[in-house]
Amino acid sequence: MNRAGGRMTSLRAKLLATHLLVVVVGIVTLFLTVNLIGARFFDRHLTEMRGVGGNAGGMTVMSEAMDAGLNAAFRRSMTEALAIAGAAALVVAVVASVVVSRQVSDPLNRLASATRRIARGHYAERVPAGGAGEVAQLASSFNEMAAALEQAERRRLELIGDVAHELRTPLATLSGYLEGLLDGVVEPTPRTWAMLHAEAGRLTRLVEDLQELSRAEARQLSLALQAVDPAAAVQAAIDRLRPDFAAKGITLDAILGPALPAVRADPDRLAQILTNLLSNALRYTPAPGRVQLMVARTPTSVRFQVQDTGAGIAADDLPHIFERFYRVEKSRARASGGSGIGLTITKALVEAMDGHVEAASAGPGQGAIFTVDLPVSLTS
Ligand code: ADP
Repeated sequence: MNRAGGRMTSLRAKLLATHLLVVVVGIVTLFLTVNLIGARFFDRHLTEMRGVGGNAGGMTVMSEAMDAGLNAAFRRSMTEALAIAGAAALVVAVVASVVVSRQVSDPLNRLASATRRIARGHYAERVPAGGAGEVAQLASSFNEMAAALEQAERRRLELIGDVAHELRTPLATLSGYLEGLLDGVVEPTPRTWAMLHAEAGRLTRLVEDLQELSRAEARQLSLALQAVDPAAAVQAAIDRLRPDFAAKGITLDAILGPALPAVRADPDRLAQILTNLLSNALRYTPAPGRVQLMVARTPTSVRFQVQDTGAGIAADDLPHIFERFYRVEKSRARASGGSGIGLTITKALVEAMDGHVEAASAGPGQGAIFTVDLPVSLTS
């Protein structure tokens, strides 16, 4: 028998032993009580009866011998009654301990073997949810834990696959150029070096994004939450990106609502969020186009919206764009430097600051609007 089985047996044995102990203590106590107190009480009662009989007159006076006989009969019948009660209690104790221990030990046995299978990597393992009280609770917590482990494992495998896939393209381009240079097929011109440099830059960006993503997914982002003035954050982001917008011929405007309260945010992370959304708007908006960054107050938050007149997003793609490595137009987005992780990081950052982000679009070619709600700071 395995170790868990051994523990179960000992649980059963312990239950039986405690039940038996209760029965034995009960019977011994009863036996002593009946023999010491009950017999004395019986004697006294007989003596009193005899006295009463004598006073009433005409009743037969009982002899000493009869007293002893009655006493012995009393003791015998009491002992017999105790023996029958004891035997019944013993049977009930054995049956009850077997039934109870089975109700506890069977589910525990199943849990123990499911745990061992999970430890060996079978994450799909679950136990039946039925059972009574705490045992059922334990089974359902176990199933929740198993589901979380299974999901974590699936995400880990997906991430490895995704990363390998993402690294393959720039590495293939780089090694293609290098081979061409070695064989003399590709000319070592400034254009070639610039191409190699751009690919290496793309790889570096990808690795940096991945590092940020892994921190975000592991909930290890260090946040310095404080009261941040939304107007100042918006102005800084606009100032930073204005040259890029001007170079592409896209108009960039900020529209600030009245009486904006401070938000509870990490200023660097808020800047990163706004930069990500504005860079995407710039990337997916052809010239001549327009991008607006609007900030307004809602009853519980400050709402930042980045609206563009660009490529838009199809309804089928909308639910997926915050997923890691999801690109609507795979080749074009990759060629334009997109890693497909920007929005995943943006979402993780917003949620780490107790905010909410969502995207909307009327469809391809109709532009898109990204909305970020951040909580109002209570300390300002
Ligand atoms: P990428 O680095 O490829 O831009 P993101 O995670 O930032 O990755 O975005 C995921 C996908 O969402 C993009 O590939 C693009 O198809 C779509 N997307 C993001 N922002 C916009 C936008 N403003 N307009 C249209 N499509 C967008």
